[in-house]
Amino acid sequence: MSISTSPLQYEDYPDAVEFFRLTDLAFLSGGFGSQLRLHGAPSEGPNGRHAIASLDASNLVTHVHNAYAESGATILTVDTFDLSPWRQKKHDQRYGHTFAADGITAAYEAARQTQVQYPGHPLYLAGSLTSLEDCYNPHVTPDDAILLREHFHHVALHARAGADLVCLETLPTVREAVAMVKAAEQHGLPFIVSFTVGAGGNPLDGNSIEAAEIATRSPLRIGIGSNCCEIDDALAATKKLQRQFERNAAHKAHIVAYPNGYAHTRTEHSADTGTDTDVWHDSACEAQKAVLPAKEFALTVRNLRKHGASIVGGCCGTTPEHTAHYVGALGGRLAGPSKFVCA
Ligand SMILES: [Zn+2]
Repeated sequence: MSISTSPLQYEDYPDAVEFFRLTDLAFLSGGFGSQLRLHGAPSEGPNGRHAIASLDASNLVTHVHNAYAESGATILTVDTFDLSPWRQKKHDQRYGHTFAADGITAAYEAARQTQVQYPGHPLYLAGSLTSLEDCYNPHVTPDDAILLREHFHHVALHARAGADLVCLETLPTVREAVAMVKAAEQHGLPFIVSFTVGAGGNPLDGNSIEAAEIATRSPLRIGIGSNCCEIDDALAATKKLQRQFERNAAHKAHIVAYPNGYAHTRTEHSADTGTDTDVWHDSACEAQKAVLPAKEFALTVRNLRKHGASIVGGCCGTTPEHTAHYVGALGGRLAGPSKFVCA
């Protein structure tokens, strides 16, 4: 594709399934929570900063989306990560569902402001949905009946709010991914599914990434892969998925990889609970974590691309500067918002 001289309006772009069938490379926007903090978003509070930011400081949320749009992101991840009725009800049984619904609606409205401000540049709004419980602990995933019920209602809120697709992300188990895929299918929403993978590139529940690929097949699946993990682990998952699709092209989807931007993570073992915890999951020490410089991170994204990833980005710790660099490193953009070149 070439540089657009008469920008299309966002309504002119094909729906997400068609667009991602035609494109061979797309860029996700990067970390959001850290950007909200950086720009002085309302404090986290008991119900999560994401909802509060969208409800009370929507201009700020739009501002962060604008920065990602200018950096060349193709997929704007709507700021709804911890905004599920289940998670909110845990904070407040009476108002949790309403709070989640209002927060999700407001989050899409804030992202849509960006979508209409950047014509001539495909920007798809992807709802961010994660596990009901801890994203990094597969042992606390609720039973299937709860997963099916909760994710059905949760995905409905995103469908109603106008999602182009949903990112089923930072998932600790294949079982929960399957429930979320069913919910996306029930509401007719295209989806990307990605797992928090450990060493070897496999999900944390003991399943292989290849088994996760087989379990989440769907006509609505745009991509599958890893996120919110170490770069090396995302690379391992990418290589395995690439081999899987070489063996069986019938179910080929985009390989998705958006690892965290941290230079180094380590695992701490607790003798009391017998569990391992990656220190970068502790928000208290997030500020002390070393984030890779944007240029360096761009090289890792280029490596992910080289090994087959075709929907790429960065998760925690990454910024619009990171996005601009990896988009640039992959030739997706020249300079300036009006000179975007579709890969
Ligand atoms: Zn993350």
